[in-house]
Amino acid sequence: ATPTALLVGTGRGAQLGILIKGPEVLESTRTVDTIVLDKTGTVTTGRMALVDTVATDGQDRDELLRLTAAVEVASEHPIAQAIARAGAEHTVLPQVTGFQNLEGLGVTGTVDGRDVLVGRPQLLRERGYELTGEIERAVESAQQAGRTAVVAGWDGQVRGMLAVADAVKPTSREAITALRRLGLTPVLLTGDNATVARAVAAEVGIEEVIADVLPADKVDVVKRLQERGKVVAMAGDGVNDAAALAQANLGLAMGTGTDVAIEASDLTLVRGDLMAAVDAIRLSRRTLRIIK
Ligand code: ADP
Ligand code: MG
Repeated sequence: ATPTALLVGTGRGAQLGILIKGPEVLESTRTVDTIVLDKTGTVTTGRMALVDTVATDGQDRDELLRLTAAVEVASEHPIAQAIARAGAEHTVLPQVTGFQNLEGLGVTGTVDGRDVLVGRPQLLRERGYELTGEIERAVESAQQAGRTAVVAGWDGQVRGMLAVADAVKPTSREAITALRRLGLTPVLLTGDNATVARAVAAEVGIEEVIADVLPADKVDVVKRLQERGKVVAMAGDGVNDAAALAQANLGLAMGTGTDVAIEASDLTLVRGDLMAAVDAIRLSRRTLRIIK
């Protein structure tokens, strides 16, 4: 072999904003036929903003935001940060005690003596909260618009719905088209709800969507594709993507993402731009041709 060609390849990679863990990584880029893409923070910017708040009958809207934000401020999730930011703009947030992060589901904690639960609608249902028709409708219409709807409740009652919006990265659609041309089938993978996932998938030109996946189950999605004979690339940014990134034949981390995701991956796309994934695959396929 000619290690010089590999070094040239990896050096050029650095120029393109791609960090390659080792030359052995390049080999898997030749055979990948499927690319699993995490939604939040990978296909979308992950910089979410609170765009709608609906309080239940008799519930004060400011109080809904104040208590919800007070719990979310303790979480690093992009949804949590959007809600916390909006809350802090309005008022001074009270202290939270007994905060708990329910990975991929939501958060809980005590604020002003109330046990507050915030998260995906299903989480609240599972914990005995009944969603009113009004809240169900608010959730549905937010999701159809491609927004993530979370529900907040305390003292045994649902108090409202908060919708956060996240924009697709400007290069995502172009990158997905280019990945297809390289022979890769894109699959959108998310812990978010199927309606939201389909709205985002349509925006970037992805047909296959796997939604409502719990963080621990993302790795199983990759395994299942591999069992079906697929050679899988996975692109992700979150702590919840790390196991799937490590399992994939080619793990691509967003440089804008978490350290855990970067450590689990073979390649880091420094700017968090999916076009760099296209460059990485093109570059390493070319590098391999030089070696052979
Ligand atoms: P993704 O796979 O898109 O990165 P996650 O697995 O992190 O999403 O989260 C899945 C879902 O769990 C979110 O869409 C949201 O409904 C809920 N969720 C997770 N964390 C929080 C939080 N801190 N506050 C409210 N909801 C949350
Ligand atoms: Mg993510």
